[in-house]
Amino acid sequence: MQSGTSAHRYDRRRLTDVFLKVYGTALAGVFRAPGRVNLIGEHTDYNEGFVMPAALDMSTYVAVAPRSDRLLRAYSMNFEESFEISLDANNPGASGTWGDYVRGVAGILEIRGHRLPGADLVILGEVPLGAGLSSSAAIEVATAVALLSTAGIKLERTEIAMICQQAEHLYAGTRCGIMDQFIACHGKKGRAVMLDCRSLDFRLLPLPEKLQLVICNSMVKHELASSEYNTRRAQCEAGVRVLKTVLPEIASLRDVTEMQLNHHRNLLEPVVYRRCRHVVTENDRVQRAGNALQDGDVPEVGHLMYESHRSLRDDYEVSCPELDILVESARPLTGVYASRMTGGGFGGCTINLVEMEHVQNFQREIARTYQQKTGMLPQIFVCQASEGAEAVTI
Ligand code: ADP
Ligand code: MG
Repeated sequence: MQSGTSAHRYDRRRLTDVFLKVYGTALAGVFRAPGRVNLIGEHTDYNEGFVMPAALDMSTYVAVAPRSDRLLRAYSMNFEESFEISLDANNPGASGTWGDYVRGVAGILEIRGHRLPGADLVILGEVPLGAGLSSSAAIEVATAVALLSTAGIKLERTEIAMICQQAEHLYAGTRCGIMDQFIACHGKKGRAVMLDCRSLDFRLLPLPEKLQLVICNSMVKHELASSEYNTRRAQCEAGVRVLKTVLPEIASLRDVTEMQLNHHRNLLEPVVYRRCRHVVTENDRVQRAGNALQDGDVPEVGHLMYESHRSLRDDYEVSCPELDILVESARPLTGVYASRMTGGGFGGCTINLVEMEHVQNFQREIARTYQQKTGMLPQIFVCQASEGAEAVTI
């Protein structure tokens, strides 16, 4: 990962020093979990469809030492702030602070019957906070593996992901899907993961070594994001309700083909039809992109990613001028295979597949064009797909 703007980079010695300074004892272990980017499959997760994220080489690190009592203490180097709670008085409910993510994970582990010792934690996050690269799942999963290790408990990775998702629902108050926590647990170096959000089956897919995952942050987050997100979900549900009257076997848009949708188009309000068309065609694109990656056909993956952006912009209407500028500025540049918005939309980031030797030129040109057209400088992260959560020994 290269970034001129990431203020926090993992440094074992610094983490050790901070731990000693904050708690007066030595850390016992360090664990990490990565941020993520979704390559294709947007707004498909809550329709029980397919997504294709990759874990990034930007992680959140949690240094830990067990305690003999039931106190859970945490210090975030990003916030330069401490927080503590007794594990005996850790009830669900959001306080709106970063401590919710930490106590949430401990809380759900205990609710599920995993008794934990108290622990001291120091948290160092490389993943930019609130940029749509899922620093929240990274802190949750890193905390989970750190706490489980102090308790001597081994859990399946998918179970850890589900615990962290529930923590985010019940303690942080965000009704997120499973993708972020799942990829933070199951990521693999040099691989994307195609995930079936219904069954949680997944498939690892090779990303060509010559490609870099270049993420451009538009630096905007339009107010609309959360209200429009809820509207989109409601429109998808409305579509399913109507389609069920003629296709009783369907449970979600995941079960509808494009042919069926078009056949029953006249039953749907035009706007609902377009929302459904995005979801149905996007599910198809994710699966085709999976096959193309398997075959090493990067131009086809790129084509599908551009199509995904077009569908999100025109049918789902969740893009914005800034994201469209980033995509259109990337498209003509040498060595660029793909560019599209990633995440919920109305701001946030684009994901670009760029050939390694052309990355520097890409960064320069995108920054120049974006600044010229919007007056803002995008934040750019050059990443590679990396491993999911693990203990860190150096
Ligand atoms: P995203 O997941 O896209 O980065 P969210 O709003 O879902 O954005 O999560 C960001 C929040 O997660 C932060 O505001 C903070 O509460 C918590 N968080 C993430 N990383 C850290 C960290 N290193 N230290 C403390 N809190 C963190
Ligand atoms: Mg998040």
